[in-house]
Amino acid sequence: MSLTFDDALPVHHELAGPALEARGLRGSFYLHIATAPSRDPLPWRALAARGHELGNHTLFHPCRGRPGWDWLDPAFDLRRYTPLRFQQEVRVANAFLTLIDGRPERTFACTCYDTHLGQGRNRAAIAELIRSDFVAARGRRTDKPITVTADLDLMNLDCLEADGLPLAALVDAVDETRDRGGWLIAVFHGIGSGTHHLFSEPTTLNALLDHLAAARDVWVAPLIEIAKWVRGG
Ligand SMILES: [Zn+2]
Repeated sequence: MSLTFDDALPVHHELAGPALEARGLRGSFYLHIATAPSRDPLPWRALAARGHELGNHTLFHPCRGRPGWDWLDPAFDLRRYTPLRFQQEVRVANAFLTLIDGRPERTFACTCYDTHLGQGRNRAAIAELIRSDFVAARGRRTDKPITVTADLDLMNLDCLEADGLPLAALVDAVDETRDRGGWLIAVFHGIGSGTHHLFSEPTTLNALLDHLAAARDVWVAPLIEIAKWVRGG
């Protein structure tokens, strides 16, 4: 199982990271560089030094425009991106992350679960554009665990949006994945009201972590570690 935290929120290094560490667990934190990490990279460097993964969540968090998404600046609408622009932004984000944590390998998490940029004839799969730059990438939200097979595409990993789910649903997902021998990648954003419009209560996260710490037959590790194990490296 991998616990992933998106969008570079202060609550991640203030609360989530320490909560995992208190139970001997480590997570993956996906940062988009233009926000907190570029203003103050030091808390993220400290988080990485304590064994967590810092992952690439682009420079500017572009997403495909949807009806009603007025918050999305047209400049960062993935439908208007070209492959070259996306590749170059993602590579700059990788370079920035390496300056923070010194690590040479990286995983990626698609923003807004969007796996394609461009439109019509110019539509392109993000996984193919950045395949050579990453160990693995978290892609679609299917809310299902991954079945680990020899031909699993590590650049298109499915995930579960954990925000707002009650503890019972999270525990059920963990236990079902364990019984199937699968890999669950849970996505969190905010922890507590006011930290993000998508959020889990701190009590829910802590109770889930207690469950995982007690479950000796569940492997909890950063996405990059499990991806490398799947790849056999
Ligand atoms: Zn995001």
